[in-house]
Amino acid sequence: MSLSITERLANGTVLGAEGYVFELERRGYIKAGPFVPEVVLDFPDAVRELHREFLRAGAEVMVALTYYAHREKLRDVGREADLEAMNRQAVRIAREVAREGDALVAGNVCNTWAYDPDDPATRRTVRAMYAEQLGWAVEEGIDFVISETNDYLGEALIALEVTRSLGLPAMVTLAPTQPDRTRDGYEYAEACRILAAEGAQVVGLNCDRGPQTMVPLIAGIREAVDCAVAVQPVPYRTDAAAPTMETLRSPAGERAFPVALDPFVCTRFEMAQFALQARELGVNYVGICCGAGPHHVRAMAEALGREVPASRYSPSMELHPMFRADVSAKDAAFLSTWNA
Ligand SMILES: [Zn+2]
Repeated sequence: MSLSITERLANGTVLGAEGYVFELERRGYIKAGPFVPEVVLDFPDAVRELHREFLRAGAEVMVALTYYAHREKLRDVGREADLEAMNRQAVRIAREVAREGDALVAGNVCNTWAYDPDDPATRRTVRAMYAEQLGWAVEEGIDFVISETNDYLGEALIALEVTRSLGLPAMVTLAPTQPDRTRDGYEYAEACRILAAEGAQVVGLNCDRGPQTMVPLIAGIREAVDCAVAVQPVPYRTDAAAPTMETLRSPAGERAFPVALDPFVCTRFEMAQFALQARELGVNYVGICCGAGPHHVRAMAEALGREVPASRYSPSMELHPMFRADVSAKDAAFLSTWNA
């Protein structure tokens, strides 16, 4: 029998992989803007394939693609009637692929855009949205819940409460879009401390920041909680001037988010380095968010000392005609142009 998320975290680092919405948008299956995962019903094979790519690259958790598959968002694209089918099918696909390896299945909810800390009525709306999404997910079979990209601690606490009421372990992560605190005014470390005190098994950060600007936030969170910590940055080169992917700009000053971020993508080596750094800082669930490709995940897995199914095709530059030790005189002649 497969180990649970808490058992895996107790045994060592768990490797996660996300960014399904961005990657499937890039492949032409999701519309940028609304970012509703219509692909789950329209092209289930595309979802299955990306799960499988992350699984082969070493991801230990298949996250059901129910990100933004909530009532509010489906209304935007006129598919509210597909809500239940989309949620159920996303979990079924994740389960199917998880069984091809030894991965767990996570149900997934996120910020709803319906929450307003100053309007108590919105709490009921948000709770109902999470309850219906996670209710279907539980019926289809999930191992735990990831509530992510939370802008508000208040909204994150609702997801946690719903998850706990279903008797499932909860991983709750905040979206670090602001310099040091949630939109309802809690420092990230303090918000994580509260989530842990309220019963979350895993707390931390995901999305928005690249490794360079995410890593400095880790120590404070690690110090604030005794439970497991999760960190899943975006693989983009954010820096002090542009600490989040939303603030990255082209040389001409145009916003790169969300569909012109390509020039900022981290290499697999940068993400491998992040995985090691995160583990050293005491992160238990190391992952990657929007912008992730299977090559990043495999490099992270290998940096953590693992051989994964896709390692069979990891680079062997000693077999490249131009880089091999016994490069022929004919091929070596090309090197002068490559080095120019
Ligand atoms: Zn993301």
